[in-house]
Amino acid sequence: MTGDSGGPGSATIEVARGSGVCFGVRRALEMAEKALAEGRPVYCLGPLIHNPQEVSRLAAKGFRVIESLDEVQGECVLLVRSHGLQPDIVAEAGSRGMTIIDATCPLVRRVQTLSVELQEAGYAVILAGDAGHPEVRAIRGHAPAAVVVGDLDAARRLDLAGRVALVSQTTFSPEEFRRIAADLVTRDLPEIRVVNTICAATVERQRAAAELAGRVDVMFVLGGRNSANTNRLTELCAARGVTTYHVEHADEVTAEQLRCRRRVGIAAGASTPQWIIAAVCERIRSLMNR
Ligand code: SF4
Repeated sequence: MTGDSGGPGSATIEVARGSGVCFGVRRALEMAEKALAEGRPVYCLGPLIHNPQEVSRLAAKGFRVIESLDEVQGECVLLVRSHGLQPDIVAEAGSRGMTIIDATCPLVRRVQTLSVELQEAGYAVILAGDAGHPEVRAIRGHAPAAVVVGDLDAARRLDLAGRVALVSQTTFSPEEFRRIAADLVTRDLPEIRVVNTICAATVERQRAAAELAGRVDVMFVLGGRNSANTNRLTELCAARGVTTYHVEHADEVTAEQLRCRRRVGIAAGASTPQWIIAAVCERIRSLMNR
C-alpha cells in the first residue's frame, strides 16, 4: 500500500508487502473469536498473539491468557495457539474436562509430524531454532529426541553419527539454516536429509521489509516488543542503514521521528493486526500534514 500524505512535496507512506497478521495467526484468531461468540470462556497457555493491544481487545470479550492449567476452573475451552503445544499438556487439559480447540498452524504441524516420522525412521533429528521458543518446545514435546541448535556454532559442536535429518523452526533465519545445512554435508555421515520447514510467508515478509527499507528515509516496524519475528524485521531494516523505529501502537510515533523525512516505510510482524497498521498510517499522515 502506498499513500500520499497530502502535504507539499509528495511525501509517501508505503507498507511493505505481506505485512501484518499471517495466515496461521489469523486462523487462530478466527477460531478464538468463534468460540468466544458461542459464549464459552476461552483460555490459552501463553499469548495467542504477540501483540498487547490485540490481547487486550480479546480479553474484553472473555479471552484469558494463562501460564498453567491450574489457573482454570470449571468447564471451558483451551485454545492451542498457532505455535502448537506439547501433547502431554493437551492430554492433561483433556483429562481435566477442558474442550480443546487446536489452532496449531498447519505449517508448524508439518514440522511436528515430520520430526516424529524422521525420528521413528531412525534419523537423529536436528531442529534449528530457539530452544526457549514455544513452537520449539511443542515440537520437542512430539519428538523428544530432537536436538535443538540455535546457530552454526552449536551445530558444529554436535557429535553426530549415523543417519541425520535437519529441520527448522518455521521462523528460523534462512541464512543460518543454509549455513548449518552446508556444514552438515561436509561431515562424514552415511546419510543426511535436509528439509527446509521455514515458513515462506516469514521469508517473504522479511525480504519485502528489507527491500522497502533500502529506498525510504525512515522505517517504522510495528509489533509487540515480545515478538521474535518483529524484532527480526527491525534488525533487518536497521541493517539497511535506515533509521528504524520499533513501535507497538500509533501513539509511539512522534513528529520528531518524522522531521525532514519524505518517504516513510512501514513493516509489520506476523502478530500485528490490520487495524494497528491503519492507525499508524493515519497517525503518520496527520503528523506529516501539520
Ligand atoms: S509465521 Fe508462518 S508458520 Fe508461523 S503461524 Fe504464521 S503462517 Fe504459520
